[in-house]
Amino acid sequence: MNVDHWIGGERVPSAERFEDHSPIDGSVLAHVARGGQDEAALAVRAAAGAFPAWARTSRDERARLLHAISDGVERRTEELAMVETTDNGALLRSHLRGVMPRVAHNFRFFADWLLGLGRDDFDTRGHANHVSWDPAGVAVLVTPWNAPLMLATWKIAPALAAGNTVVLKPAEWSPLTASLLADITAEAGLPDGVFNVVQGYGAEVGPPLTGHPEVRRISFTGSVATARTIAASAAPNLTPLSLELGGKSPLLVFADSDLDLAADLAVEQYDNAGQVCLAAVRLLVEESVAADFLERFLARASALRQGDPRDLDTDLGPQIHPRQFGKIDGFVRRAVAEGASPVLGGGPNRDLGGLYYQPTLLTGAKPGSEILTEEVFGPVLTLQTFADEEEAVAMANSTDYGLAATLVTGSPARARRVSARLVAGTVWVNCFFVRDLRAPFGGARRSGVGREGGDWSFDFYCDVKNTVSAPWAR
Ligand code: NAD
Repeated sequence: MNVDHWIGGERVPSAERFEDHSPIDGSVLAHVARGGQDEAALAVRAAAGAFPAWARTSRDERARLLHAISDGVERRTEELAMVETTDNGALLRSHLRGVMPRVAHNFRFFADWLLGLGRDDFDTRGHANHVSWDPAGVAVLVTPWNAPLMLATWKIAPALAAGNTVVLKPAEWSPLTASLLADITAEAGLPDGVFNVVQGYGAEVGPPLTGHPEVRRISFTGSVATARTIAASAAPNLTPLSLELGGKSPLLVFADSDLDLAADLAVEQYDNAGQVCLAAVRLLVEESVAADFLERFLARASALRQGDPRDLDTDLGPQIHPRQFGKIDGFVRRAVAEGASPVLGGGPNRDLGGLYYQPTLLTGAKPGSEILTEEVFGPVLTLQTFADEEEAVAMANSTDYGLAATLVTGSPARARRVSARLVAGTVWVNCFFVRDLRAPFGGARRSGVGREGGDWSFDFYCDVKNTVSAPWAR
């Protein structure tokens, strides 16, 4: 596979390269081009050069090309799924059945949404208001490793549909599928320079991209710490930002709920080895049913099969990287040192070795401690109990994050009351991870800035303009 940059419709190497390792066995998968200032400048120049023609391309033609990209993703689903699994360690089963179909859908959805966009013409005392959704220019998209192609295309598709040109900076721990996507866009006939990929370490190639004065939009998914750096680099140019960040989401289980459903939803939080921004990692359970819930949860969690993510029967693969693995273990050790008890797991999986961390549940964590307030981004859940609805809401809202919240209850009235009070971009009631691309997606508090999805994506990626015309003389 070619792992050079993709700039202006060509492969562009860098003098320096970095090793990309598989989390499955640590093997070297590729020596990837390591971009910096020069490659960033080249890519923005290519994207800026391609912008005027792409912005003038009709909506129908843009939509046709996005559908052609989607066709290409569908043709190469198995290859993309296997490459992604080898590169980031997430389950092949999920990539085949859920993730890659969603990647293809991202392109189809935003292509179709574009064609229905903007019927906002209205009349003011005989004056015609015409609202247009103008392309903004070069969009820099920076993405994380936990769902590389899915999260990248969730940004690429609306950015291209809106008529912008794109420079994608994929995460250095999972750079491969972005490179394959470049081939797919070329095969689909996307004009040169409309889509560009710059590889490299975030700290090196990120700032010259996000601080570039010709960049008109920055969409970032990743950590709060990186978001602060990006916001600072965007500030001199006042470049508009969309930030999709971390979380510490709660799962509230009320005594009136179906406890089997609650236990099923709680065990789902180990998906992707816990490396999911939306994961409801704080289990908040009403005291009177806590023991019963725990029993049902442990029965399910202890049946999870941990192992090679390429095996279709595996439920839990490895963590992405030794650094992330060490970070997770550090959180667990400090929580236990402060008095928390692991009632499940609690450390590395010694039988499997490598980067496999046991699915873990901690009880008795100290109120206000880091394990209850900071994002771990691994297969580590905590369980706390509450006495009543008031306390449940207070506990749910007690972190700086506000990405999502899940509640399980048998009472529609309680569901309405509680969901209205939860600070979160998304609330799920008696379900989890049900996503519709028409709906807004984003986070409250430190979990993000702005919303994407449906019209919200176009609102971000476009310069929305109102043209007011006086009546023409007859
Ligand atoms: P990260 O912030 O370390 O890196 C994300 C991306 O930013 C990478 O491509 C990285 O190379 C780049 N980057 C790093 N420094 C940069 C800089 N100075 N300038 C520009 N780019 C730079 O995050 P991560 O560890 O890759 O991902 C995990 C985080 O992402 C978690 O916090 C998780 O919750 C969050 N996340 C959020 C969502 C969401 O939709 N809200 C989805 C997935 C992941």
